[in-house]
Amino acid sequence: MKLTHIEHIGIAVKDLDSSIRFYEDVLGLKCYAIEEVVDQRVKTAFFMVGQVKIELLESTDPEGPIGKFVEKRGEGVHHIAYAVEGLEETLPELEAKGIQLIDKKPRKGAEGLNIAFLHPKSTGGVLTELCENPNK
Ligand code: ZN
Repeated sequence: MKLTHIEHIGIAVKDLDSSIRFYEDVLGLKCYAIEEVVDQRVKTAFFMVGQVKIELLESTDPEGPIGKFVEKRGEGVHHIAYAVEGLEETLPELEAKGIQLIDKKPRKGAEGLNIAFLHPKSTGGVLTELCENPNK
């Protein structure tokens, strides 16, 4: 498995617009993209901090993964995403090591990345996303 860097940090929020204001007005970052990911039932907003992105996630459905997370735990850090080379081959390797996969095969995430999540039960409580840019 080859991780190259932290691609982004995913943060669950209740209200995208008011959260964007915090990141722009207080932290001085610039939101460069807003995208709805229908599959994951979220609306996302992206900021760049050096090489790392911040991904804000607002649920579009109370029964979706972010809706349930916010209901149970409130707003806050939701996942860490690592950029990986060879995502497709990496997943069976991890499974062979006993890691519980949420996605057995890569799927499409925001920004056209191929992504897969590892279950927090297998990763010390941190929901872990692996992603790969297919255009690199
Ligand atoms: Zn993410």
